[in-house]
Amino acid sequence: MKDVVIIGTGAAGYTAAVYCARYKLSTLVIGAEEGGMGQTAAEVGNWPGIQDIRGPDLMENFKKHAQSLGAEVKIARVMNIEKMTGGFRVTLEDKSTVESKTIILATGSAKRHLGVKGEEEFSGKGVTYCATCDAFFYRGKDVAVLGGGDSAVEGAAIAAKVAKTVYLVHRRNEFRAEPYWVDQVKALPNIRMVLERNVTEIVGDQKVRSIKLDTPFEGSDTIAVDGVFIEIGSIPSIELATKVGCELDSLGFLKVDAAMATTVPGIFGAGDVTSGSNHFAQFTTAAGEATVAANSVFNYVQGGH
Ligand code: NAP
Repeated sequence: MKDVVIIGTGAAGYTAAVYCARYKLSTLVIGAEEGGMGQTAAEVGNWPGIQDIRGPDLMENFKKHAQSLGAEVKIARVMNIEKMTGGFRVTLEDKSTVESKTIILATGSAKRHLGVKGEEEFSGKGVTYCATCDAFFYRGKDVAVLGGGDSAVEGAAIAAKVAKTVYLVHRRNEFRAEPYWVDQVKALPNIRMVLERNVTEIVGDQKVRSIKLDTPFEGSDTIAVDGVFIEIGSIPSIELATKVGCELDSLGFLKVDAAMATTVPGIFGAGDVTSGSNHFAQFTTAAGEATVAANSVFNYVQGGH
């Protein structure tokens, strides 16, 4: 039986692994894919101590650090967590199981879908959910980025480096993104702000050709684009948490207390899936929450609380 199974291979999961391994807890990190949401960050400029690093490189450093301290890492999808005497049984997709005294849920979040006509039909044929990952494929083309948060505004700035024109479509005339990124996009001549408008349909044939708006922009309710990046936020990945009986907060995030304990004794949470850090999803907040969660696991395994 492991001391701790950490579910999630993002910033929260690997930070928890670093701390748990240094506490000499037998530690297994399991995640469906490498690197979590951090993997999608083209430029990370707010991880203190490093002025500029690519998200995938930062995540690789996190992983190597955890492994160097003895944490095991397994890339696999977790299907279920059940309570058992003395801990929990974790079932993986291949039906194999792992037993652990404690669990840290660092399952992150998944991109929100817009829910308009054409979105599912053209998903992967011009519609994607990560501007910073996919903009590279649109060199010299016209693209739309939807949303007004950090993901959309940063995504528009990155896309503008390669695309001919980037239409940043946002439903309000104010951005919730970091002013750093808002200043960047305002200074870029190939970004067109399409504000106070919603996309009502994504139109195409074999691939995306245009978006339709609820209010005309420069006299037309259609903008011709080759790609649409939907960056309208994320929803917490709480399926495993709810299956094992953890409560959620009023916004649907995994409910945790100041010790990052969930409502199920022995299960802790960290990162974007939780109600911690005022729902502010950053590398730094994920790492901070994971640090506290690891300390709580250590106390719990020692027989504390
Ligand atoms: P977010 O902050 O929740 O912003 C989502 C944006 O999409 C908002 O501007 C929202 O509009 C808009 N939106 C939501 N639903 C919509 C809908 N149905 N139709 C049209 N627009 C819709 O999401 P995010 O930008 O993905 O960021 C998520 C978290 O990750 C945040 O905590 C963010 O700080 C963090 N993040 C940080 C960085 C970074 O530090 N560089 C990068 C990426 C993400 P309203 O503004 O009108 O609500």
